[in-house]
Parts: sequence; C-alpha cells; structure tokens
Amino acid sequence: MDDKLLEIKDLVKIYGTKVKTKVLHEVSLDIDKGEFLSIIGPSGSGKTTLLNIIGALDNATSGHIYFENHDITTMKSDELASFRNKNLGFIFQFHHLLPEFTALENVIIPTWIKYKSPTNRKRERALELLEIVGLKDRINNKATDLSGGQQQRVAIARALINDPTLILADEPTGNLDSESTEQVYDLLRSINKDIGTTFIIVTHDRHLAAKSERVIEMV
Ligand code: ADP
Ligand code: MG
Repeated sequence: MDDKLLEIKDLVKIYGTKVKTKVLHEVSLDIDKGEFLSIIGPSGSGKTTLLNIIGALDNATSGHIYFENHDITTMKSDELASFRNKNLGFIFQFHHLLPEFTALENVIIPTWIKYKSPTNRKRERALELLEIVGLKDRINNKATDLSGGQQQRVAIARALINDPTLILADEPTGNLDSESTEQVYDLLRSINKDIGTTFIIVTHDRHLAAKSERVIEMV
C-alpha cells in the first residue's frame, strides 16, 4: 500500500542569471493522498514559487517532484499539459473567471480542453458542483453579477470539474472579507473530506492554516 501522492526531493529554485536569487533551498516534503496541507510564510518566502513548480507551471533549478512515482520535473511540455489536465486543479487569489459567461459555463469550460465537446454527464457534474458550493440558484448569473465570495466559489467548482487528484490553491481567500474567507475555507475542507481531493493551500493567515491537518512553514 502506497498512500504517498507527492514526493518533493531537494527542490531548488534560483531566479536570474547575472544576479541570482535563491528562493527554494533544497526543499523536501512528502504529501499523502487525501491530505489537507497548508503552507504559510511571509511574503517573498517562496510559497507561490513552490506551488507553481508543483503545478508544473514553472521549472525547478534542480531537484525532483514525483507524482504517484512519476518524475514530473523530467516530463516534456505536451506530457506536462496532459498531466496537469488529468490530475490538477488550480485556485488562485484572483479567480480569473470569464466575465461574459455564466457560472455554469465557467465551470464547464475546462472540459472543452479535455473532451472536444462537453458531454451531458459533464454538464450534470457542473450542476452538482455548483450545488455543492452553494450556488444552485445562481447557475445562469454572469460572473460579473456575482459577489467576490460567490465568484471564488465558482472558481472552486471549476477547479473540481475534471475530478483532479490534487488541488493547488494560492491565497484562495486573499481577496475576500473575513466571513467569505471562513466559508470558502470550510468549503475546501468539506470537499477534502467528502470527495477525498488532496489540497495544498498557500496562505499567510495562521488562523486559517490552523484548520489544516498539517502546516508547513516557509522561512
Ligand atoms: P511568496 O509567494 O511567498 O510571496 P514568491 O514565491 O512569489 O513568494 O517569491 C519568492 C521570491 O522570489 C521573492 O523574493 C520574489 O521577488 C522572487 N521572485 C518571484 N518570481 C520571480 C521571477 N519571475 N523572477 C525573479 N524573482 C522572482
Ligand atoms: Mg505568493
């Protein structure tokens, strides 16, 4: 039995060529399937850098990341694109919804990449997810006609539409008031418990991080 989802080994990131800034110093970390992990640390400590490398949005300078025992740091770009699409969901501080599209359309759009046209089953799943995030009666609202907290909940439903194994969230509540922050965090936690999705969440909020199973601190 192997419950390990991710193995991060001796990860180093150096930005720049002339002036070099070492941001990640031999980071090693194992993450189990179904874990709910928070990464905290001050601004500039490399949280976003680490998350982007785990999500294969950026390259490490050295070191390895094994996802279910496959080294993603040596994958080619087309392999990486399909790896991301199959396994990962992203939630960012700024949700990047398409403003002219409805909540439902925003959730379905990622399936256009994976499947040429969205199947009825995917549409049903999008409706289920919007219900899970508490937006059943807002499915036909345009993104611009939703509050900040509601838009972030659409972004969460969108991150779940391809049934990712792992969700990477970078300051997902950084742009929200404290009530919406609490709601969004509780929602992520309940999705983790109910669906078993693994979460890695970057936050600078210790209060929120304290709700996690495990907190990693970057210095
Ligand atoms: P955090 O998310 O913890 O605030 P980041 O990972 O965004 O930290 O940044 C860590 C450090 O790396 C910062 O000092 C930042 O200025 C630097 N940095 C981030 N991205 C780049 C880049 N593309 N080029 C050069 N330096 C960068
Ligand atoms: Mg950051």
